[in-house]
Amino acid sequence: MILFSGLTAILTMPPQMNRYNPVTDAIACSTEFYCWHEKGHQLDRNYRFVSTTKEFKSVIQSYLETCDLYDLHNTYCGYIAMFPGILIPKVKCEYCTIFDTAYYGGWGGYSELYAELYALADGTIENLPLELQQFYEN
Ligand SMILES: [Zn+2]
Repeated sequence: MILFSGLTAILTMPPQMNRYNPVTDAIACSTEFYCWHEKGHQLDRNYRFVSTTKEFKSVIQSYLETCDLYDLHNTYCGYIAMFPGILIPKVKCEYCTIFDTAYYGGWGGYSELYAELYALADGTIENLPLELQQFYEN
């Protein structure tokens, strides 16, 4: 029974374990990628939620207009284009599966994109597209 509970905990842990609490400034994360993601949320908070500004949104939009979706060396272009809430609208579903909720309803938008881009860059600002770096630096 203990083994079963432990297994259940491991199987259900990752999505719940990864979070950033902007009130206490505490990060909980289970993998390196998720740690960078949560650190991205922390950075965003420290920069007064720069991901919610018109400037960030407009740089994302102009980046999408100029980047090459077919350039296999540029992971950021396709990633941003496919990100829920950016080009793909969030869709309300009547009977949501976990996937629907995660993909369309409960996840996405510029704050999540900000954190995801930081994780994609392994927390290294220089890895980000040049025009986006300004939002991650002091
Ligand atoms: Zn997040």
